[in-house]
Amino acid sequence: MNSTRQIPPHTTLAERLPSLRTAIDAARVQSPATAAQVTLIAASKTQPAEVLAEAIRLGVTAFGENKVQEAQAKWPALKAAHPEVALHLIGPLQSNKAAEAVALFDAIQTIDREKIARAVADEIAKQGRAVRCFIQVNTGEEPQKGGVMPQNLTALVAVCRDVGLPLDGLMCIPPADQNPAPHFALLNRLAAEHGLSALSMGMSDDFADAIRLGATAVRIGTKLFGARQD
Ligand SMILES: *Cc1c(COP(=O)(O)O)cnc(C)c1O
Repeated sequence: MNSTRQIPPHTTLAERLPSLRTAIDAARVQSPATAAQVTLIAASKTQPAEVLAEAIRLGVTAFGENKVQEAQAKWPALKAAHPEVALHLIGPLQSNKAAEAVALFDAIQTIDREKIARAVADEIAKQGRAVRCFIQVNTGEEPQKGGVMPQNLTALVAVCRDVGLPLDGLMCIPPADQNPAPHFALLNRLAAEHGLSALSMGMSDDFADAIRLGATAVRIGTKLFGARQD
């Protein structure tokens, strides 16, 4: 998927942000099923601290980082200066990084197995921090991708509730080569089945579909920051 082509080359973050907000709002009002509010999470992997500071200055209040270590290098000073900002972990978490993740992130979107659920719950109890948790669901059942398989979700939700992990909702990353809409619809159905209200789904190329199918948060990188160098 190449979303970079759709971005006018010489726009700035200050220009892209309002058009993105307008597009999010336009998608939100298109269907009665959409969420009353859609949170824009700026997917800020590889973006340097000065770009993050500029996004905060422009009013972005939620960010998603993929790697605990990268976030530890970029975020502590920014978070101290801007306590209103919510930092989400949207990349895979290893259980040996649970303590660091709970100390830094306000939300962890990638709970996908019992070991991680237990490690995060233990750290939340130990550190006394409020961290919102999402289960990542591997809606495309791709072996190389993180996320619990849909058929194992019920068991993982039960574990989370058993260990007292505060569950907000579900997150998914549809297969890159498929129409994402059926994946968003599946995630919506699974969340309803399990009494979960938050749905983190939709990225630069497909956020409008995701919002029409009930997303409460979209994770946008390229459309906001431009093409990544990675
Ligand atoms: C990078 C990333 C995004 C944003 O992707 P874009 O296509 O650049 O908007 C969203 N979610 C996750 C988990 C990511 O790693």
